[in-house]
Amino acid sequence: MAVKTPRTPVREQDPKVRVTNFEEVCYGYNAAEAQLEAERCIQCKNPRCVGACPVAIQIPAFIKAVKDGDFLKAADILGTDSSLPAVCGRVCPQETQCEGSCILGVKGEPVSIGKLERFVADNARLQKHFDATTQPKNGHKIAIVGSGPAGLACAADLARWGYEVKIFEALHRAGGVLEYGIPEFRLPKDEVVRYEVENVKRLGVEIETDVVVGRTVKINDLIEKEGFDAVFIGSGAGLPKFMGIPGENLNGVFSANELLTRANLMKAFLPDYETPVYVGKKVVVVGGGNVAMDAARTAARLGAETHLVYRRSEKELPARVEEVHHAKEEGIIMHLLCNPVEILGTEEGWVKGIRAIQMGLGEPDESGRRRPIEIAGSEFEIDCDVVVMSLGTSPNPLIAATTPGLQIQKWGGIIADDETGQTSREGVFAGGDAVSGAATVILAMGAGRKAAKAIDEYVKNKKQ
Ligand SMILES: Cc1cc2nc3c(=O)[nH]c(=O)nc-3n(C[C@H](O)[C@H](O)[C@H](O)COP(=O)(O)OP(=O)(O)OC[C@H]3O[C@@H](n4cnc5c(N)ncnc54)[C@H](O)[C@@H]3O)c2cc1C
Ligand code: SF4
Repeated sequence: MAVKTPRTPVREQDPKVRVTNFEEVCYGYNAAEAQLEAERCIQCKNPRCVGACPVAIQIPAFIKAVKDGDFLKAADILGTDSSLPAVCGRVCPQETQCEGSCILGVKGEPVSIGKLERFVADNARLQKHFDATTQPKNGHKIAIVGSGPAGLACAADLARWGYEVKIFEALHRAGGVLEYGIPEFRLPKDEVVRYEVENVKRLGVEIETDVVVGRTVKINDLIEKEGFDAVFIGSGAGLPKFMGIPGENLNGVFSANELLTRANLMKAFLPDYETPVYVGKKVVVVGGGNVAMDAARTAARLGAETHLVYRRSEKELPARVEEVHHAKEEGIIMHLLCNPVEILGTEEGWVKGIRAIQMGLGEPDESGRRRPIEIAGSEFEIDCDVVVMSLGTSPNPLIAATTPGLQIQKWGGIIADDETGQTSREGVFAGGDAVSGAATVILAMGAGRKAAKAIDEYVKNKKQ
């Protein structure tokens, strides 16, 4: 029966209204809706959803607790595998992970696992329910570089096991991309991100902001002078890529990271802040991932007519289906199968448009997606005031450059063991985007947790 029952719909802000504000798009389930949706789960004996979750959340168990109305028990079950459930319930690509593998999806619609996770985490927050139990202090100190999902997940596990954990964060706020990258309308900062960061602090984790490891302090000093037994590097991949086309140095060309950081962290969208961001009347965003959708939807909310230029077709768009759907609903104008070849400027050095070329699709490339090929003589122009480049990011080279013996890949990723996060330096572990390149919140969290286990074993072995 559950196979045929449609998903419980989720309420959202009207697209015409939400494109004028930064409030959350999705309202999530209330208790009755969550219980109705939980009833659809058939409690598989061999749940495929759990196998497809990078941190193996006990999905049927927490869904059963929701169905039974025991929402706090559901929160405890989630809490054993995830230190950021309200974040993951909102931003995980469930359609390719747990929900993508749910048995109900074979003949009908999968269970809305993400929306149920979000409901449970939000309800626990409203009830102020959080288990801050930790083991007695064991006298060992661990340093963590970066307060994104990888660093927070690693810190939370180690703190629960009795370690004294200190996170060093370069920015003035903790949370990594959750704080500076993903926009408020998808992931509210005060209610969700800061609350979950506070929970990690309630476990005893200290977070020191405004510390750039590699400049303010070096990793060697942390181990040799400051008495840390081990270091975990979760410094992310925040260095933006550009196309290398003429005109990229004109005024009005931004990286998506800059636009999003200015809007999120520096509150450029609030009229009483002294750190506004210029979007002009018309913006072109270049790229097709989640970051490009976030940049486009942010520019639209800042009042610009927003165009998105992507070199492949809609089928190949790497952004989540939900994000593309929301972007279209909000009036983002998509130019698919075309690519900028030049950014055009005024005599004063400001952007006035882009010259783009139309693309066709050839044979699949190494990524499995069909290779875009320029169509000769098909150039055209789009006039605009601002161009936002969203072509991916790579790890910042600072830490590798200031940590002797730390080996990195050619593209800048730190070389670390998949299972343990062990790097080429003894006592130094790494995980998340700093190792994999730009990926997802849940994969970063998973890497942080694996490294926490390995650090625990490393410290225990060192003691013997
Ligand atoms: C705009 C945007 C939207 C995204 N949307 C999604 C989504 O919908 N779903 C999803 O799953 N993933 C999404 N991602 C990807 C996801 O956010 C990342 O994969 C994840 O945050 C990586 O976690 P991390 O802990 O490895 O690094 P980060 O979150 O990047 O955190 C690294 C932290 O380290 C700090 N740091 C860096 N260098 C130093 C240093 N030298 N000293 C001290 N601190 C340092 C940084 O300031 C940062 O706070 C998105 C990313 C972006 C940019
Ligand atoms: S696969 Fe789907 S139906 Fe089966 S336990 Fe997981 S969520 Fe429930």
